[in-house]
Amino acid sequence: QLSQRLEYVASFITRGSRFADIGSDHAYIPCYVCQQDDLAEAVAGEVADAPFRSAQATISQHGLTDRVSVRHGNGLDVLESGEVDSVVLAGMGGTLIKTILDDGQDRLSNVGRIIAQPNVAVPIVRHWLEEHGYPITNEGIIEENGHIYEIIVADKDAAAVPMTEKQLLFGPYLLQQKTHVFYRKWYYERAVRRQIIEQMKQAAEPDTRKLAAVRQELAWIEEVLD
Ligand code: SAM
Repeated sequence: QLSQRLEYVASFITRGSRFADIGSDHAYIPCYVCQQDDLAEAVAGEVADAPFRSAQATISQHGLTDRVSVRHGNGLDVLESGEVDSVVLAGMGGTLIKTILDDGQDRLSNVGRIIAQPNVAVPIVRHWLEEHGYPITNEGIIEENGHIYEIIVADKDAAAVPMTEKQLLFGPYLLQQKTHVFYRKWYYERAVRRQIIEQMKQAAEPDTRKLAAVRQELAWIEEVLD
């Protein structure tokens, strides 16, 4: 039984895709997708030993060794250039996702779609995608086990629409959809920003630039929740 988060991420992989799941851990996404879609093929990439072995075990258990290739290595290094049409990066922080994409740019030549689910620092990933010719074409937000996750879909051949700072923060599609979960996330984030501002004001020498940035975010959040 795949988690709802991973099922949602997997739903953005196009049928018949040859994709890579980087930081695959148990290789749940590659196995799930290849079970559902006879034409799909996948590469599961893992840098750490134990998750790499878990991935090998899941792939064998599902009898998918001919369609899911598991590779041990850092980020996109495990890929041959032009080998996959889509890349999934899920369950990692936004800064790590950015580093993996930065370091592996030469492996993205044939990659039309990037699906990212950063656990934190989501705007960093939106910004990277926009800067590197992957306009965002869809987004999702889901709550599972008390955590809220955002999913970003970006397509190389889509028309580029520059994002405002506000869209980078909230997500251009999530901001339009404003789902129930979106509100929950931003009610919580509003409380966090208010607390940060109070703490910063009490500092002997408040960092005025940082304070102004948090105040700006708080103003946007209040506007969006209004
Ligand atoms: N993608 C799965 C998910 O969303 O449930 C697993 C997420 S798990 C929290 C993150 C995985 O990324 C870990 O198994 C970790 O070993 C792997 N990882 C971290 N940095 C990596 C890198 N540079 N290259 C490949 N895998 C990496």
